Amino acid sequence: MKIKDYFIPDFYYSSVLRIKPEFFAENNIRFLICDIDNTLATYESRIADEERRRWLDLVESTGVRIAFISNNSERRVYTFNTMHGYFTESRAGKPFTRKLRRLMKLMDAVPEQTAILGDQIFTDVLCAKRAGIRAVLVMSMDVKGKPFLKMKKFFERYFINAYRRRTEK
Ligand SMILES: [Mg+2]
Repeated sequence: MKIKDYFIPDFYYSSVLRIKPEFFAENNIRFLICDIDNTLATYESRIADEERRRWLDLVESTGVRIAFISNNSERRVYTFNTMHGYFTESRAGKPFTRKLRRLMKLMDAVPEQTAILGDQIFTDVLCAKRAGIRAVLVMSMDVKGKPFLKMKKFFERYFINAYRRRTEK
């Protein structure tokens, strides 16, 4: 694998809501490890909105096992997860893979059937690639008033373009 490949997602959607629940079975993803902030909820909301909660339920109903992984605090993750009761890792230190691997072990997840779902290339996608699993990237829900995030989005563009070229072929 070339260095560049560590930053290119396997799939890219504008929102989780654009991913059909069948997508996971079609792509042999049976274990889905989801980032929270800006993937399933904005920083300002303590829980996922109704649409995204329904989406998670639908995905789960197709037989996908879901877990949450976040670099945010234990309190944030605990509160967010009360509606769901999945396995979680907080302060996960993505793109480091120690907690991801621990979570996969808890889930009995096999790498070939596991993917990370997240909104950041330099944390979520890189973490997935270092662990040898696939990455589903979505656009960040909200980057307003977050200059550092906006800057990261600027640097991500190079890899998103590379993803587009690759999938067009
Ligand atoms: Mg995020």
